[in-house]
Amino acid sequence: MSLYKTKGIVLRTHKLGEADRIITILTNNYGKVSAVAKGIRKTKSKFGSRLEPFTHVDLVLYRGRSLDIVTQAEIINSFSSIRDDLDRITYGSAMLDLVNKVSVENERDISLFNLLLKGLDVISQSSRNLRLLLIAFDIKLMAISGYMPKLDYCAVCKKRAGAKLKLSFEQGGIVCNKCSALDRNSIFVTPAAIETLSKLIRLPLSDVAELDIMARIEDELYLLVQDYVSYYIQTTLKSRECLSQLIHSH
Ligand SMILES: [Zn+2]
Repeated sequence: MSLYKTKGIVLRTHKLGEADRIITILTNNYGKVSAVAKGIRKTKSKFGSRLEPFTHVDLVLYRGRSLDIVTQAEIINSFSSIRDDLDRITYGSAMLDLVNKVSVENERDISLFNLLLKGLDVISQSSRNLRLLLIAFDIKLMAISGYMPKLDYCAVCKKRAGAKLKLSFEQGGIVCNKCSALDRNSIFVTPAAIETLSKLIRLPLSDVAELDIMARIEDELYLLVQDYVSYYIQTTLKSRECLSQLIHSH
């Protein structure tokens, strides 16, 4: 029997046929997995709401020829407090979507799994500092994906950069005034924002929730990191556009 067990976090679901859904899951052992949950849209389905986005589940799957099939699902944490709050849903969805974009089918990435689990855990417990948490989540995700920005010296000439700095997407780090002259994919960044960004990379997410950062610096970092992410994934995610609308409406 080709049954296998894994833990996973539901990233998204799609309708399939009359009564089924395709569930996209980030698993701790097998990377991203897409699997069919048969009959899940029937009122008496054995799955109930166990395979909704955000849910951390214990799964038994059957390895199918094209798509796998979910045979059992038990909730570890439903993260229902995320789903009950518009701000938390919006920030949580931004996390799920980015993870869905960067994760690879059947390629184990335990750092990514642990980052997402931690991110959901922190926003499920408090609505404080959600935007700062997302900035920290994004930059940590970039770092574990191999795009850790170099922030200590100019990425081109390796000199300690002066006061006028830019973050270069192409170089993956800060560049000095001289080296940035020909770099079109770079934007000005203040020393305070760079210092805060290093702190966000270093600190665990649970500590980021407790930080007090000046609004001006957070605004700057939010735009900077969104652009940094978009440059590397080569697109702007729809959930991020919703997020910008939410931020402007506050
Ligand atoms: Zn330089």
